[in-house]
Amino acid sequence: MSITQATAANRQRRGPATVYVSLYAPAGRRRYWWYSYRCPECATYQFGRSRDLTGVTGARRAGCGHTVNVVIARTYPAGGVRA
Ligand SMILES: [Zn+2]
Repeated sequence: MSITQATAANRQRRGPATVYVSLYAPAGRRRYWWYSYRCPECATYQFGRSRDLTGVTGARRAGCGHTVNVVIARTYPAGGVRA
């Protein structure tokens, strides 16, 4: 990473940083949509859940305290992931 890149990133920032999440559909007894992503601010791995899809996307506060703009990168269908 160069100083030039870091400066450009800071200059572009308006509002929360966009994150692309992996989304897991409700399955079985699980009624929530689950999603995971890495915080662009502090690079910690975050995990969230929402009762419906509209509660997943948009600006929200990550578990680390940073505000991020959530965009769904890919969705895993119900039953596609088994514990
Ligand atoms: Zn963070």
